[in-house]
Amino acid sequence: MHVAFVLDRSGSMSHLTDAVISGVDEFVSELRRDPGDTRFSLTAFDTRVEHVHIAVPLAEVPSLAETGYEPGGMTALFDAVAHTVLATDERLRGQGREAEKVMVVVMTDGLENSSTDYTARTLNELIQAYDGRPNWTFVYLGAGHASLAEAQAAGADLAFERGNAMRWQAEEAGLLMALKEANVVVTALDTFRAREMVDRFCRRHLIPQIDIGMVIKTKKERLTLASGQVIASIPGFACLRCWFLDDATLNEEARERPPGYDRNPGAPGDPQVVSMNGTLASEACNCVLDMVTAFSGGRRGVKVWRYDGRTGVLEQGELPSRRADCDACAEEALGDGH
Ligand SMILES: [Zn+2]
Repeated sequence: MHVAFVLDRSGSMSHLTDAVISGVDEFVSELRRDPGDTRFSLTAFDTRVEHVHIAVPLAEVPSLAETGYEPGGMTALFDAVAHTVLATDERLRGQGREAEKVMVVVMTDGLENSSTDYTARTLNELIQAYDGRPNWTFVYLGAGHASLAEAQAAGADLAFERGNAMRWQAEEAGLLMALKEANVVVTALDTFRAREMVDRFCRRHLIPQIDIGMVIKTKKERLTLASGQVIASIPGFACLRCWFLDDATLNEEARERPPGYDRNPGAPGDPQVVSMNGTLASEACNCVLDMVTAFSGGRRGVKVWRYDGRTGVLEQGELPSRRADCDACAEEALGDGH
């Protein structure tokens, strides 16, 4: 396979410098996991287009930190993509390797403003012609887009298939890399959606997760419920999807329920929960300590701890059994793969 990476080096990328360096390095190291004979080219562009590496074996691709990445200048995005496609095709053809798989990856914020040879229309035609070949794939990594839909729209402007356009969030990319290195993840998140995302991520990477949460209900100014829990969500056992997280809950939250402890719309401001959350956080620490030291002698295990903030009672309970048809559990241990 041949990977032609087209990297935006224009001034608008400068606030992303560190994240781009780690993002590109990470991309190359992911490619190295596949033992096939893959060659890598890097084209960096600002006002001009520069072919930095041409057809280098993956093992010899230096870190982008060594190669250097100093954004500046304007964005000749259309010219950079077009010249990369044509140069790659010409080189492979000259070597009799035109049947080889080619992946063209474009990492940019999409703000074209200085191409002289190609327009959106002529680039679009060029990409469509190549995308129609069975061995060519185009991937758009959109930096700085507010949503996936926006990244897809920017990719679609270049005739990249929507399925191959990804929103590449530099901050998130750095965060996810750090999260992958964790031995245990302890979460205290405000929304079901966030809990679902982290739970799935941890399952994929076989990271034990301790999820803590608290909900408060009021009637007028009276506290009617202060209910918290600590859940050990551990690979091999029930996940949050096996249990209480479902599409209906996520959709309802997306539609109408804002994050917050008290979802009573008439509630007078945020309730004070730090002392109750402190109990849950301490209990989560005990779970982590038990994983490392086994101090409980098996008395803790993979459980749920339910907490009544009004009485102070903290009780250990059993997790439900794993659901055989759980789609989140089916992703367990897949890592970043499909
Ligand atoms: Zn599950």
